[in-house]
Amino acid sequence: MVSCQRVLQELSNYIDNEVNAALREQIENHLKTCRRCSVVLDTTKKTIRIYSDEGTLEVPSGYSERLRGLFLSAAKSC
Ligand SMILES: [Zn+2]
Repeated sequence: MVSCQRVLQELSNYIDNEVNAALREQIENHLKTCRRCSVVLDTTKKTIRIYSDEGTLEVPSGYSERLRGLFLSAAKSC
């Protein structure tokens, strides 16, 4: 079983489809059982969608820091 930390670490690669099949399966299994990580995934996807809807590929300043804070708090409470 993969840890929350591992899942959160690979989350952006997972969203970008840059993880191999084995890891993808592990992450998906983890997300099924871990509410916290699936919330983080959801939030991340929504955030990305908002920015792509605005037609900018540029990551706004503070975005990655906020995301990292979210990841850290999620990992800690798991
Ligand atoms: Zn988790």
